[in-house]
Amino acid sequence: MVAKMLNHNMMMMMIVGLIWELTIGIFSRGERTEFEAASDHECGSVDSSHYCVKGDNWGYSKINPKRVSMDLWNLTSRKLIESFPLDPIKENYVRQVRGCIFSAVQPEPFKSAIKLVAVSKEVVEDLLDLDMSVTETEEFIQFVSGARILPGSVPLTHRYGGHQFGVWVGQLGDGRAHLLGAYTNRHGTRWELQLKGSGKTPYSRDGDGRAVLRSSVREFLCSEALNYLGIPTSRAVSLVVSNDDVKRDQFYNGSVENEKGAIVLRVAKSWFRFGSLEILAHSGETELLRKLVDFIIKQHFPLINATNSNRYLEFFSQVVIDTSNLIAHWMSVGFAHGVCNTDNFSVLSVTLDYGPFGFMDFYDPNFVPNTSDDEGRYKIGNQVNVGRYNLNKLMKALNPLLDLKQQLLAEQILKGYPGLYQTKFMELFKAKLGLFGYNNNDEYLITYLLKLMEDTRADFTMTFRQLSEITKQQLAAHSISEDHWALQDVARHTNFSHWVNLYLSRLNRNIVDSDEARRTRMESANPRYILRNWMAESAIKKTAGNDFSEVHLLQKILRHPFSKQTEAEEARYSSRPPPWARELRISCSS
Ligand code: AMP
Ligand code: MG
Repeated sequence: MVAKMLNHNMMMMMIVGLIWELTIGIFSRGERTEFEAASDHECGSVDSSHYCVKGDNWGYSKINPKRVSMDLWNLTSRKLIESFPLDPIKENYVRQVRGCIFSAVQPEPFKSAIKLVAVSKEVVEDLLDLDMSVTETEEFIQFVSGARILPGSVPLTHRYGGHQFGVWVGQLGDGRAHLLGAYTNRHGTRWELQLKGSGKTPYSRDGDGRAVLRSSVREFLCSEALNYLGIPTSRAVSLVVSNDDVKRDQFYNGSVENEKGAIVLRVAKSWFRFGSLEILAHSGETELLRKLVDFIIKQHFPLINATNSNRYLEFFSQVVIDTSNLIAHWMSVGFAHGVCNTDNFSVLSVTLDYGPFGFMDFYDPNFVPNTSDDEGRYKIGNQVNVGRYNLNKLMKALNPLLDLKQQLLAEQILKGYPGLYQTKFMELFKAKLGLFGYNNNDEYLITYLLKLMEDTRADFTMTFRQLSEITKQQLAAHSISEDHWALQDVARHTNFSHWVNLYLSRLNRNIVDSDEARRTRMESANPRYILRNWMAESAIKKTAGNDFSEVHLLQKILRHPFSKQTEAEEARYSSRPPPWARELRISCSS
C-alpha cells in the first residue's frame, strides 16, 4: 500500500514535471514562492504514555517526566558506530579520509573559563527530557562545552563533501563539529546532539575548529526562531562562550581581530547532508554509499520499504518534495539561507548550518544576505533554482545505485520539482492572504502584490502582517493608520487601489468567513517578529560587555512570533528598521 502511494507520488511528480516543461518551460522566476502557518513539526504526536511509567529504569514519572540530574541520562553513539566502518586512523590531524563515514575525535575543551549564555527551555525539557534545573549544574556546562563526555558517547566527526558556489570542492566534513551521540526521548524520537565550535578535526583544513560568539548567537537564535515560525530546522540546546581568543578577519580586509570562542550544542534527527552521499559517489565508494543510503532510509523514511528495488528512487522523490517545501517555507518568511551549498542541504530537508543568513526587510527578490556572495548566487529569489541544482547533484550521487531505467525516472522526478515548489508556495501565500479555495487568478493576485512591494520597497514581513490586522472596510476606504507603516508604503503605488479591489473581491469569494476570522487566521500565518539583522546585531554588540539581556529578550520574543508582545513593541521589533540596518554587512566569517 505504502509502496503504491509512493509510486503514485513519483508518478504525480513526473506528470507535474512534464506539464511544467510543456507549459512554462524551465523555471526562471526565482522570486516566485509561498507560505504556511506555524506548526509544531519536530515532535510528531507519538503516544508517549507507555514511556512514562513511574519508577521504571529510566526514572521517568507521569507527574514529572523530566530528569533532575544527568546521572542516568544517556547518549549513545552505538547505532552509528555499528552501522559504518570508522576511520582506521585514530590520530587527529588534517588529511584526506577514505573508506568511512565518521572519524572518532574528541572535542577540544576551551582553556579559559566558560559561561553559559543561553539555553532553550523547550529543547531541554521537551526534546531531551531534562528539567531546567539541570542546566544550572556544573556537569551540564561541562557537557555542552565538550569538556565532559558522557558514558556511551563516542564523539564522531562526519566525512562529507560538497558543491560550493557551483564547484565540486571534494572533502569538507565536520571541521569544527562533534557529534556526541543520540538521545531517544520519552516520545521515542531520536535526536542527534552535535557541538559546533568544539575544536579541530581531520576535516578542519585551514580552519581553527572554532566558532566565534557573534555567529553562534545568530545560529542559536535563528534556528530556534525558524522552529517557532513552523519551519523545519535543526534546534539549539545551548550556547556557551569562553575567554579563549579566536582570530577572525570578519570582512576579509586584512583586519584580524581577537574574538571570543563559543560553542552551540545543536540537535537534529540527522546531520547527513547531500554532500554526505556526494563524497562517496565521487570517490567511487559505491558499497559504502549503498550502506549509508540504506541506513538513512531505514532510520528516517519509515514509509519506504527498505527491501524494495525502487527504494532509492522513492527516497529521492521524497527529498525532492521535502526540499521544495522547505524552500517555499523559507520564502514565505523572507528567509535567505545565504550559503546553499550542497554540504549545507540536509537529506531530511531541515534548515542546517546557519551562517550569513538574513531575513529581508523590504521586499527584494535580489536580496543577498551574504556580503561574500559577490555574484548573488544565493540571493533570495534564486533559492528555488539552487534547490533544483542541489537536488540534481544529489541525484547524480545516487546514480551509482540506480539502473539505467531508474536514472531516467530520477530525472523525471526532478522535473516535478518546480511544480511541487509552486504548489507549496501558493498554499503558503494564499494562507498569508487569508484566501480559501482555488481561483485562477490567485497566482496573479500574489505576484501583483509582491511587485507593488518591490516597487515601493515595502517591508515584506510587516506588509503581510498589517494586511492581517486591517479590516476590509479600512482597506476599501484606504484608511491606513500610522501604525500600518508598511501598508502605507505599498499604498503609495499607483496600482494599489486596483490590487485592493481585486483582493477584496477575492476575499468575498471565501465561503463561510468573517472578517474577524480572516484576520485571526492571517495573524497566525504572518509573523510580527522575525530575527532581522539589526536586531541580532544590536544583541551581539551588547555581548561585548557581557550583557546578554537582548539575546535573552530576542529568544523570548521569537518563541511567539505571531503574538503581539509589549516588550517587543517597546524594543521596536515591529517598527520600521532603523536607518543603520541598511549598512549592516554579514560575511561568511564565523
Ligand atoms: P560552513 O560554512 O560553516 O558550512 O562550513 C563549510 C566547511 O568549512 C565545513 O566543512 C566546516 O566544517 C568548515 N569550517 C568552517 N569554519 C571552520 C573552522 N573555523 N575550522 C575548521 N573548519 C571550518
Ligand atoms: Mg556547513
